[in-house]
Amino acid sequence: MQAYLALHCPADQVPGLQAACKGAFLPGGLRRDPPGGGRALLAGDAAGLVDPMTGEGIGWAMRSGQLAAQAALAAFAAGEPDRALQHYTALMKPVLFEMHRAHQLHRLIYAKPMRRAAARVIASNEGMQRAYLKLLAGERDYADLRPGSFMRLAGQITRSMLGGAR
Ligand SMILES: Cc1cc2nc3c(=O)[nH]c(=O)nc-3n(C[C@H](O)[C@H](O)[C@H](O)COP(=O)(O)OP(=O)(O)OC[C@H]3O[C@@H](n4cnc5c(N)ncnc54)[C@H](O)[C@@H]3O)c2cc1C
Repeated sequence: MQAYLALHCPADQVPGLQAACKGAFLPGGLRRDPPGGGRALLAGDAAGLVDPMTGEGIGWAMRSGQLAAQAALAAFAAGEPDRALQHYTALMKPVLFEMHRAHQLHRLIYAKPMRRAAARVIASNEGMQRAYLKLLAGERDYADLRPGSFMRLAGQITRSMLGGAR
């Protein structure tokens, strides 16, 4: 990674960059539902809105910030600031659903005993690869995946595990 950075950002052009280069964890395992407590509304990473499948969190951070502001405005307008979290939780339902689905898929694909078999199944399935790219491009949501497709994937991974164990 450092070599790649050096190739694209030569030290003489960006002084000090390489010395300060280090990795950072994505808080993809965090889940908060409801996204806050009391009068505090959590948005973005603080609310656990990093997609564990894609590593993306910028879009959800912006969307949740926007929804938190809407919820706060609605609560203030009604003279009920204590109900901001209630408004926010309702507005966040589709976002939390997306996160829930992403975590389900992540558990299915990345659980240690499944990983190798999942990689085999995905490597041999062009449709799945295309669906993943569409997810990354924002052309599809997890909500578009039918519950049956989770079951089918689980079945394919299990069959591949059993086949691979022979
Ligand atoms: C290496 C890496 C690569 C990533 N790549 C992508 C990507 O390609 N696409 C994508 O969508 N997402 C990516 N993400 C995730 C994305 O960066 C985060 O999900 C997103 O920035 C979250 O926004 P946020 O506003 O919640 O938090 P942040 O962007 O972390 O903002 C929080 C801010 O609060 C400040 N802060 C913290 N504590 C305090 C305090 N006590 N007082 C005042 N200020 C404070 C911090 O300094 C920071 O500026 C990546 C993350 C990492 C680490």
